[in-house]
Order: sequence, then C-alpha cells, then structure tokens
Amino acid sequence: MVFHGPGDLRREDLPVPAPAHGELVMRIDAALTCGTDVKTLRRGHPVMIPKVPTVFGHEFAGTVSAVGSGVRLREGDRVVAANSAPCASCPSCLAGRPNLCEDLLFVNGAYGEFILLPPRLVARNVVTLTGSLPAERAAFAEPLACALLAIERVRVEAGQTVVVFGHGPLGCLLGMLAASRKARVVMVGKAGWRFDRLKNLGFARWVDATSAGNTVEAIREITGGRGAEVTVDATGRPEVWEQAVDSVARGGSVLFFGGCAPGTTIRLDTRRTHYEELTLLGAFHHTPEMIRRAVETLASGALVPDSLISHRMPLEEVGLALALMARGEALKVLIRS
Ligand SMILES: [Zn+2]
Ligand SMILES: [Zn+2]
Repeated sequence: MVFHGPGDLRREDLPVPAPAHGELVMRIDAALTCGTDVKTLRRGHPVMIPKVPTVFGHEFAGTVSAVGSGVRLREGDRVVAANSAPCASCPSCLAGRPNLCEDLLFVNGAYGEFILLPPRLVARNVVTLTGSLPAERAAFAEPLACALLAIERVRVEAGQTVVVFGHGPLGCLLGMLAASRKARVVMVGKAGWRFDRLKNLGFARWVDATSAGNTVEAIREITGGRGAEVTVDATGRPEVWEQAVDSVARGGSVLFFGGCAPGTTIRLDTRRTHYEELTLLGAFHHTPEMIRRAVETLASGALVPDSLISHRMPLEEVGLALALMARGEALKVLIRS
C-alpha cells in the first residue's frame, strides 16, 4: 500500500526489494493499524513521512527473507523491527535519550508483503523472536515500547491509583502496564463498544466521561477526595490534559502521553503546581531498550494484547481498516497478507 499524500492510499505492485550491504528484507507476517496512520492519511506527517510517495504502515513483525552482506541475522529468523532508529551521535542520543534523537530515521511499509530495512535500523532496532511468540503479538512491540517508556518515566508503583484518560489502544496498553505493576487503574472514556471491552481487560474502575458530569469530581470522589497519584492523558486533547492536572493528588505526577494539535496550550494552576509539588511529564516515542523490553514483556506473557485486536483483515483492505479506525469502530486491526 503506497501513500501518495493526504487521502491518497493506493495498492501497487512493487518488485520484492533486494538487500544491499547492511540491509535486510523481511516478509511481513502481521501488521497492526495505528491511530497515527489514520492521522497521517488525513493530513500527512512531516516527521514520519518526510516525502511521498512512500510505502505505509509502521507496526509489524515477520520473518527475515533475505540479508545483505555484514548482517548478523539469517534468512528464516523470526523478528520484530521498530519503526525508527536513533543516530547514536546527536546530543540527545549521547545523553541517553535516543527517543529524542535529532535525526531519527523512520521506516514505513508494514502494509505490504515485504519490507526493506536500512542498515541503521538493522544494526540497532531489530529484535529476534525466540520461542513461540506469535507475530500478531510481536507486532505490538512498537506501541508497547512507547507505553513502557511513559510508565517508566512516571514511575508507577504498587498501590498507587493511576487514572488513564482515553481508552484507545495506547490508553489500554498504558493501563495494562500500570495494572501489571499492581497499581489500581481507573480508565476514563466514553460509553460505547470500546468502553464495554475495557470491562473484560480487568481494570479496577472506569469512569464514563459522558455521564460522569464532571470527570474531575468523579475521580476525586473515588480517591477519597485526594485525587490520583498518577494521571495519564492518552487522548491528545488539551481540555483532557487540563483534567489530568486537575485530578492529580498532592505530590502527584501527570503524564502527557497524547500529542495535541500544534499550537495548542493549556491553563495551569501555578499555586497547585508549586505548593503541591506536581510533576508534569511528557513522554514521546521509544528507545531501542524499550523495544527489547516490550518484546520480553510480550514473550513472557506478562502482557497479553490479543483483546486489543478488534478486527482482522487482508492486505487489500487496509484502506477499509483505516476508515473503520477513523470512525472509531475499530481498536486495532490485524492485517495479514
Ligand atoms: Zn503506531
Ligand atoms: Zn541521535
């Protein structure tokens, strides 16, 4: 599937790529749709897609089908690849924060039969799958790595109340990770089919943002008036960022996970931020270390993401899958060629 610009995704027959030195070709066994693809299809993406036309899709797992010279992996190895690789030499990389790399190399092409991976990605961000981890679970490595980085940054601890605003796939992964650290997780979302699914994911509580009236008050109520130790925005809406700040407890931490539209701002209660020592944190993307830990988390069964797959479709129906996502009718769609 080739992206030619906003609203223009085409099915095209391309030659199977041949790997040069340091490159690798992977047969894609499973790909997942992502909200970012929906956004990109609507308005383009200056960072992930600097030029068009380009192959499309960025969450995938598969099998090595050909390797160039100098590559340590072998044909037939089952692998998962991240959708980016840091440069390892810019100030952010040298400071140990490669997710903020000033020269992140992005790779697209999950919605296809084969994908060519460039040398930097092959060297830094391809992980071999051991044991029986199925490709459709391994494909969650990329979004899960983003969630892991966020949960690490906010230092979720056992016994804390963690409120997650937003029940999209990432909101659910964030909630599941917090729950796996023995936090009491409260999910905030809108009633409907996605909300009903949450009840099966084993979260302690949920707040219906459509009927709870004042969501912040509802959260204060279920936390004995104190607010939550950790609040997480996974919606990318400025008004929800404000709710996340308003519902955090004294000494608590707010994690801004969802990216808002450019140019937006939020209001901030400076008195509370200072006297209640609020910690306000952003979290963006992932690192090679988090990709590896995400694969371990999936392989060990510590987190089973299967219930986040709401539909399964063949490669030809990627356009339809992304349309379902855009209408809020799908959580994640598994694409198989
Ligand atoms: Zn994604
Ligand atoms: Zn860098």
